[in-house]
Amino acid sequence: MLYNFSAGPAMLPKPVLLEAQRDMLSYDGTSLSVLEMSHRSEPFLSIRNEAEQLVRDLLFVPDDYEVLFLQGGATLQFAMVPMNLAPGGRVDFIETGLWSERAFADAACVSDAHVVASSKADAYQSIPTLPAASDAAYVHLTLNNTLEGTRFTSLPDVAPPLVADASSCLFSEPIDVSRFGLIYAGAQKNIGPAGLTLVIVRKELLRAGSLPSYLRYDLHAKNDSLYNTPPTYSLYLSMLVLRWIKQTGVGRIHTQNKMKAKLLYETLDASNLFHNRVLKKDRSLMNVPFSTGDEERDASFLRYAKEHGLINLEGHRSVGGMRASIYNAMPLDGVEALCAVINRYEKEMS
Ligand code: PMP
Repeated sequence: MLYNFSAGPAMLPKPVLLEAQRDMLSYDGTSLSVLEMSHRSEPFLSIRNEAEQLVRDLLFVPDDYEVLFLQGGATLQFAMVPMNLAPGGRVDFIETGLWSERAFADAACVSDAHVVASSKADAYQSIPTLPAASDAAYVHLTLNNTLEGTRFTSLPDVAPPLVADASSCLFSEPIDVSRFGLIYAGAQKNIGPAGLTLVIVRKELLRAGSLPSYLRYDLHAKNDSLYNTPPTYSLYLSMLVLRWIKQTGVGRIHTQNKMKAKLLYETLDASNLFHNRVLKKDRSLMNVPFSTGDEERDASFLRYAKEHGLINLEGHRSVGGMRASIYNAMPLDGVEALCAVINRYEKEMS
């Protein structure tokens, strides 16, 4: 038995992969693979429409929001959001880690971007306190910090619309979409395979500008995300993952995610060898970084874990150590196996 703790592309639910396997040569009696279908064909349009409906149902997306399926990863959104919502205007950033640094750097190329709160001085081990006043076009935050293992547990109470990078937490817990002007997420963690980016945006924020076509949200919205060829297979697999989420419900998935994270944090907190340094109240439910504080010891643990079927536990190359990504598709069994291996390694080393 192998458990894959990759931060993304991450493990997908087994039933989804089996269904995709069954559909590979003939989708829904069409004798065509989804891979070779026109994006304007009937069967593909029904896949696209179902995917949008599932996003709306699972997140209770209000009617005055567009749901867009785009490409370019969350990274393209770092630029597309300011280009569409605040070209040349002021935008405020809450800096909580590497991905928010990158979002800020790209926004600074096309807008008057400011960091108004940061936990950099704290090595991003917490979520900073937020200034109340802002006259920016929007305030950007990274809801879950995939590398650093922190998350926002409450939202800043600011006047401008909030824009959230929710790449590593969307669909892992309920979210009040109406609190945001725009939410974006790369698919490759909780939604599906790489190649698809989900954007949920309040309609009143969209305007036709003079941007090149692919960069215009309004054009994608007007064309049901079919202005150009979408990543058809990623969208299909994401639709299957969303169906899988619906079977359990986001509320129950959240309960399971809290249980998995609690188990792992309790194991780490009880350990004399391994540590998670994140401020307890800001700990992520999705990404759990930990380390022994010694590079060689970490490398030895990673080898040991691999021998026990636990793979992709390496921390991001910029921070080292270990990181367990425990997205929706990771079963409780996988986290229990990791905790057992952590305990066994510590015992063998002492
Ligand atoms: N934001 C967050 C929070 C992420 O975790 C990632 C990817 N790990 C990105 C942005 C970048 O996403 P992409 O590779 O899809 O551009």
